[in-house]
This record gives sequence, C-alpha cells and structure tokens, in this order.
Amino acid sequence: MTLNIQYYAQVNLNNACPFWTDHSQCGLKYCAVKPCTPGEVPEGLKSSSYKYSEAASQDIEECEKAEKLGAINGSLSDETRQALQEWKKHDDESDRFCMLDDEDSPESQYVDLLLNPERFTGYKGPEAWRIWNSIYEENCFKPYSVKRPLNPLASNSGLCVEKRAFFRLISGLHASINIHLSARYLLDENWFEMKWGHNVSEFQLRFDEELTEGEGPKRLRNLYYLYLIELRALAKILPYFERPAFHLYTGQRTQDNENKKLLLELLHLAKSFPLHFDETALFAGNNKEAMKLKEDFKLTFKNISRIMDCVECFKCRLWGKLQTQGLGSALKILFSERQIEAMPNTSNTNPSFQLSRQEIVSLFNAFGRISTSVRELENFRSLLSNLKQ
Ligand code: FAD
Repeated sequence: MTLNIQYYAQVNLNNACPFWTDHSQCGLKYCAVKPCTPGEVPEGLKSSSYKYSEAASQDIEECEKAEKLGAINGSLSDETRQALQEWKKHDDESDRFCMLDDEDSPESQYVDLLLNPERFTGYKGPEAWRIWNSIYEENCFKPYSVKRPLNPLASNSGLCVEKRAFFRLISGLHASINIHLSARYLLDENWFEMKWGHNVSEFQLRFDEELTEGEGPKRLRNLYYLYLIELRALAKILPYFERPAFHLYTGQRTQDNENKKLLLELLHLAKSFPLHFDETALFAGNNKEAMKLKEDFKLTFKNISRIMDCVECFKCRLWGKLQTQGLGSALKILFSERQIEAMPNTSNTNPSFQLSRQEIVSLFNAFGRISTSVRELENFRSLLSNLKQ
C-alpha cells in the first residue's frame, strides 16, 4: 500500500542550535539535502489553507488576518469568532510534546523525501556522540556517566514506569536510525555509480549480543516498543481522519480523495491489530504527581526535538527532526483521548483536537521509518542465517 501524500516535508534546517555554539560545519557530501525548487512543489501544498487540513481553515485564516488588522468586529459571524477562539485554544504549545518548525519562516523549505532518503552518511565520531550523549545524559531521565563512546546502558531500574518508557522510546529511535544506516550503507563507489546495500558487519557491531555485551537485543526490543506506540497512535487517531470535515488537500481533487481512502484503510488496518500497548498505565491518576510527571515528560521531549537543530549533518538532521516530531505527534494523540472522543462527527468547525500539517506529515513518515526498520530487521536476520549456513 503506498500513499503519495507524504513525500514532501516542510522543514527549517537552518534553525540555530540552542545549546552550544562551537559547531563544526559538516562537509560530508552524503549529508547534503536537496530542497525542492518552488516549481517542484504542488500548488496545493503551498497554499496556506492546507496548513490545518480542515475545511474550517479558510474561516480561521480569515479571522486571523482580520484580527491582525484589528478588525474583529461585528462583521465576523458568531460561528467564525468561535472557530477562531477554538483554534487559538489548540494552537498553543500546551498539548504538544515536540517543537515544530515555523512554517512561515523564510528559511523553511520543502524537501522531496524520496530524493533525500535516510541512509548511511558517514556522520560519526565526537560530533554524533555529543548529540546522543546530550540526549541520554541530560534529557532522558537517565543517570549515567559520560564516556566516548557512551557506556552500554546499565540497568535503568529504579526509574518509574514513565521514565523507563521515555528512555525506551529514545533508544528505539536510535536503534531505528542505526538500522537504516546499516541497511542502506555505501558499499562501493566509483566515478559512475554508488552502490548502497546491507552491511551485515555494521549491523552486528551495533546489535549483536556478544559484541554489544548484551545491549544489542535490548535496543531491538526498544525498537519494537517504539513501533507499538506509534501503531497505537495511528489506531487512536482514526476518528480524526474519518470525519467528513477532514480533507487532504494538494489541489488535485481526485487524487486527494483516493489518498484519503487509502489513508483510512491504513488506519483501519492499524486499528485491527490487537492491543499491545496500554498507554493508560502511564501518568495514571489525576493527582498532582502524575500531572507534574507528564509536564516533565513533555518538556524533556521538547528539549530533544530542539537538540535535532544541533545535528551537523543536514540529512541526519532532516530525518532526526521528522522522526522526533512524528513521535511527538504520536504521544500527543495517545494522551489526548478525551479530546479525540469529544470531537464532533459532522460539523466543520471546532474540533476539540487538532493536528497541524507538520504533525500529520511527521507522524506518517515516522511510522514509515520505524516499520521499515522492523522489516529490515527481518532482512538482516535472514542475511545472517545465510552466512551461517
Ligand atoms: P552511536 O550510534 O553514535 O551511539 C553512541 C553510544 O550510544 C554507543 O556507543 C552505545 O553505547 C549507545 N547506543 C547505541 N545504540 C543505542 C540504542 N539504540 N539505545 C541506547 N543506547 C545506544 N548516521 C548515518 O549514517 N545516517 C543517518 O541518517 C544518521 N542519522 C542520525 C541522526 C541523529 C539525530 C544522530 C544524533 C546521529 C545520526 N547518525 C546517522 C549517526 C549515527 O547514529 C551514529 O552516531 C554513528 O554511526 C556512529 O555510531 P557509533 O557506533 O559510534 O555509536
């Protein structure tokens, strides 16, 4: 099943790193990202009304413009005014687990993801370790000491279930990135062509039980954990996309309708999976402690999404951003159950839950990445068993 709505992503790869200034410039040729020229981006995607993926968006934009001009007055209908208030309520940072790029920034670019695949780039050594270090050591509720490379992850017992879950998500993401680079490794290069493919020894170095002193299998379990969480989020978000008010909009109506149908099929498939992850076990109870924990979780995750702006390799930054934003969208969905349930079925206005275009695009791309990793794992298993024979 293929969906061709998700290949263009709008990102700002030029945000300054908010944590340190002594960046080195990445000169690796495989780290370059080729952005789209304006002519390559479908017209519909460029129109700002697409931003909210809602039929109501035109109303809301009118309101926003009117408000900017100081013109909120009797000329706006009550319904429109209410739509504006509702939108604003949801447009703040509070529901989010992740920092999103400012799509209106002049630095923001469209990237055709098919032309810029996630694969081996050669980004490694102290620069890459600094990012992973900063994520695990300072932003992952993970008490452990700095070594280069990092120590294999010691026991994380003693942490509450939410903090352990957080760590497993990040470790799963790290595993997924490293599986991709091992599966699309630069095997050979000459003047005429580059040969990309599976590098089994690279995979073993990172995941083999003996070579990693037992850590590899844990990393792979964390990969499955991340997969289940994102799958669960897709299952839960089905009602949002099923509303008649939700339209895909690229400007090509027939294709948009076709894609909406495919999208719903995919989400129904996700829903048909047995429940393997119960998010209600996290942040259980409405007490102060649970609320505080959830806030800490959100803040820490937002910090990790900001660290992505410190990744020197642009290709790694692009995919790192998309995947952390996608996970942020999944977490937002999982912990917004009441708002999703309260969504009106038919009305065009005021859904109690909103996802921005960036959140939607990153959600599906992140799921695309993690599910590809799971499939690649199977490929590596059969390559390894062939080698043993
Ligand atoms: P690293 O992967 O750098 O890991 C550092 C240490 O963390 C390891 O020594 C180990 O102790 C621990 N560790 C490793 N895996 C896990 C895990 N799953 N869970 C917990 N702990 C773990 N390179 C590419 O070629 N292509 C890319 O697209 C790419 N994207 C990247 C995106 C980001 C955001 C970052 C930070 C890096 C990216 N890299 C990419 C670099 C890549 O992830 C590695 O850092 C690099 O290949 C060097 O690997 P390493 O063996 O030194 O260990």
